[in-house]
Amino acid sequence: YRRNFLGNISHELKTPIFSIQGYIHTLLDGGLYDEKINYDYLQRAANNVERLQTIVEDLEIIARLENETMVLDLQSFDIKLLALEVIEDLEMSAKARNITVSLKEGAEKSFWVRADRENIRQVLTNLVVNSIKYGQESGRTKIGFYDMNDYVLVEVSDNGIGIESKHLNHVFDRFYRVDKSRSRDQGGSGLGLSIVKHIIEAHKQTITVRSTVNVGSTFGFTLAKGSAAVN
Ligand code: ADP
Repeated sequence: YRRNFLGNISHELKTPIFSIQGYIHTLLDGGLYDEKINYDYLQRAANNVERLQTIVEDLEIIARLENETMVLDLQSFDIKLLALEVIEDLEMSAKARNITVSLKEGAEKSFWVRADRENIRQVLTNLVVNSIKYGQESGRTKIGFYDMNDYVLVEVSDNGIGIESKHLNHVFDRFYRVDKSRSRDQGGSGLGLSIVKHIIEAHKQTITVRSTVNVGSTFGFTLAKGSAAVN
């Protein structure tokens, strides 16, 4: 498993490095003075440097999650307020694709959960970022909460491009992408959902996905109930 993982990492890093090499050498070999390509190639090299950065940042998150065997900082909090913070943080990226991110109707009341707040922020962030990356222009993302007796179910749903059923079992795998070029164009590392799964499993909870191509996707995860009185 370890060997496989390292193999995947080096492959993922090689692709942008190879592109950067190509653009920079072309510029050094005289392309610098060619007005038709110089700016464009620098821009492409810069984009690939950014991809490298995303991959390394996500790898750092994974390394941290694994090394610390996940010491969870459990506290009771209202997940609705956390969701509102995440929506606010992602407002600019949503706007860039003209996508509305909001709470589902009926989410007026508080939903207390007991979990690691910063880790769950990461989970919500990754899911909402994906709903924007793989959403339709002018689409909408909704975050809903459901009181299920023993736990709270949180759902992030979009009306985006959807995922074919044959891929559904794999989307949580490291570096798995349904459409590599789209994922790369959107700056994806292929690690976002594996980080999400890792965090939810550390909480001994579950995450599931249902999706229909061209209709949309819903990612749902459960969390233990918390209470306003006990922290
Ligand atoms: P990436 O960095 O590629 O976005 P993720 O682990 O976050 O990596 O997601 C894995 C793959 O699952 C994506 O490449 C994409 O093909 C698919 N995917 C994830 N979220 C969605 C979504 N909301 N709608 C459609 N496809 C999705």
